[in-house]
Amino acid sequence: MKGLLTEIRQCSVCKPFLPLGPNPIISASPKSKIVLASQAPGRIAHEQSVAWDDPSGRRLREWLDVDDKTFYNPDNFAILPLGFCYPGKGKTGDLPPRPECAPLWHKQVTDRFECDPLYILIGNHSQQFYLQDKLTLTRRIQNFEAYLPKYFVLPHPSPVNHFWLNKNKWFESDVLPVLKAEIQKRLS
Ligand code: SF4
Repeated sequence: MKGLLTEIRQCSVCKPFLPLGPNPIISASPKSKIVLASQAPGRIAHEQSVAWDDPSGRRLREWLDVDDKTFYNPDNFAILPLGFCYPGKGKTGDLPPRPECAPLWHKQVTDRFECDPLYILIGNHSQQFYLQDKLTLTRRIQNFEAYLPKYFVLPHPSPVNHFWLNKNKWFESDVLPVLKAEIQKRLS
């Protein structure tokens, strides 16, 4: 795994499309128990070279019910966005992850896990990549139990997703307690 991570951190496959240049943000260990598959790092993560150190990350840790130390230990959580580099801004927010990245790298990383981890699929991009279906994000999350024990589907915890979270109160009451229990089980 170490050699692969070094190789990924030197990757420049989509350099011509990255406004701030490549800076792959990934964290994983052969012992990772849970994989956080999200979209792509934002600008702050790119500048700090740290994923999830922002309001979205704080909310995600609340959802998972883990502290920073547990979260940033790659033996617990692998951080594996669909695109490892910041893709730049579009008209309505950050651009989607670069399409070259996940097909090139994800399987190489996941093949090196010693046990079958739980894949937490955060947002539509990672769900479409891993589940290969045409359902809406809301529909998938309503049926979250159908994807267990391999996958746990989540909306993005970004503050800009406030509208979805307010509209779908069942997520907090019905889904999050199951998520917390699943995380505890995997980490124990
Ligand atoms: S997004 Fe992925 S494929 Fe593209 S340069 Fe970064 S690490 Fe390489």
